[in-house]
Amino acid sequence: MAGKVYIEFPARIVLIGFGSIGQGVMPLILRHIGIDPSRISIITADDRGRSEAEQYGIKFIREALTRENFRRILDANVGRGDFVLNVSVDVSSIALVKYCWERGAMYLDTCIEPWAGGYTSPTMTPAQRTNYALREAALALRSGQVRAPTAVITHGANPGLVSHFVKQALVNIAGDLGIEAAPKSRTEWAKLARQLGVTTIHIAERDTQVSSRPKKVNEFVNTWSVDGFVGEGCQPAELGWGTHERNFPRDGKRHESGCGAAIYLMQPGAATRVRTWTPKAGHIMSFLITHGESISIADYLTVTESMQPVYRPTVHYAYHPSDAAVLSVWELQGRNWQIQDETRIMMDDIVSGMDELGVLIAGHKKNAYWYGSQLTVEEARKLAPYNQATSLQVTVSCLAGMVWAMENPNSGLMEPDDLDYKRLLEICTPYLGTLHGEYTDWTPLSDRERVLPEDIDKSDPWQFKNVRVF
Ligand code: NAD
Repeated sequence: MAGKVYIEFPARIVLIGFGSIGQGVMPLILRHIGIDPSRISIITADDRGRSEAEQYGIKFIREALTRENFRRILDANVGRGDFVLNVSVDVSSIALVKYCWERGAMYLDTCIEPWAGGYTSPTMTPAQRTNYALREAALALRSGQVRAPTAVITHGANPGLVSHFVKQALVNIAGDLGIEAAPKSRTEWAKLARQLGVTTIHIAERDTQVSSRPKKVNEFVNTWSVDGFVGEGCQPAELGWGTHERNFPRDGKRHESGCGAAIYLMQPGAATRVRTWTPKAGHIMSFLITHGESISIADYLTVTESMQPVYRPTVHYAYHPSDAAVLSVWELQGRNWQIQDETRIMMDDIVSGMDELGVLIAGHKKNAYWYGSQLTVEEARKLAPYNQATSLQVTVSCLAGMVWAMENPNSGLMEPDDLDYKRLLEICTPYLGTLHGEYTDWTPLSDRERVLPEDIDKSDPWQFKNVRVF
């Protein structure tokens, strides 16, 4: 597919990490950013993707970045006006943002990564292992850095693209309710969500991609980073905590400092199951894995009066990964969270399936509305090489975030919610398959108590207590 060049970029681009996302984003960068491949380099910890890089004429440096060596390795490759794209695991986002600002370079990542071991160190408290803590540490970089080079954090599919889906969905619901809405500021978006009566937002995803190779015993199979998924799946479950909630979870904990928009549960996300709904799958059970967007969207949509939150939706991820990944998580839990001896990211072996990734906006007059991308693996492969359905939703959002940053190079630290959702969706849409919006009358109380009486709050279907599977 030929593509429009969105921006000419005369400086250098450095990719850190060249796994499923790095390899998938490269053809999009070469197609849509005007840069000669000789000005791109890759710094990564293994040989995956080496032949792809060589085919494009891109410099490939195999060296794992650590707290001790990253400056020495990056100094030769990063300077004023350059762009660092961090799509690795185990390389600290915060260290890289600070470094990029020192060097005058722009930056983008798809999640806030700590240095290796940062999720699992036994010296850390559960609160310190949350994405809330990582986000607070990243936001603290903002002070005094308003005109710093643009550093976009957490801009993949989710976190990332889904923040733009939320805004588009709110506008669509408003239109269908006959409410004129064109919010510009954070305050106006939060007021619109409140006016619509939105109480709950699920990032509702069902991945149905299937490999020709069944999962083996003692193998973790996924459609994106196994290390990334296992890392976040073992963090405490986290959710933006809405002001309509009346049943605080018995294992829930609040944070002592920071924005206060989210809570965490004293169990790993990969062991926390929630009910959700997507148009193709219908009612499904999914994992409440911690994710940056659960916190940033909840924070963004908070209305405060006299310094107190008077409105905030509950926001969390509800992820039904590929069937092979569900089995892998089941086995992982059985191993007491010791990762399997073998791991595999499904790519060319995928024979069918779709990643249906969207936002389920609920609690308003029309009950619930899902808005998002329905992308099949066949469509993804036609649209871009080295991709499947899951990776393409991430990589095109990465590309769009990079273009936005290059168009707005001195914006300092930015989260997806801070960006212009129309511009981002304009760039992403050609790669998202069907962009679909659908209302449903399904609620977490639909069809309940079929086999036994349950402890549910019948006064409000969208209480988190009703969503969670005990
Ligand atoms: P992957 O496991 O396929 O690849 C990780 C890459 O990081 C590999 O190339 C590896 O060599 C490299 N790496 C590991 N340690 C390194 C180090 N110390 N220095 C330099 N490179 C190192 O992962 P992926 O699927 O490509 O995902 C990459 C990142 O993107 C992960 O952080 C993942 O969580 C994130 N991600 C975000 C989204 C989203 O939607 N926001 C979706 C998928 C992945």
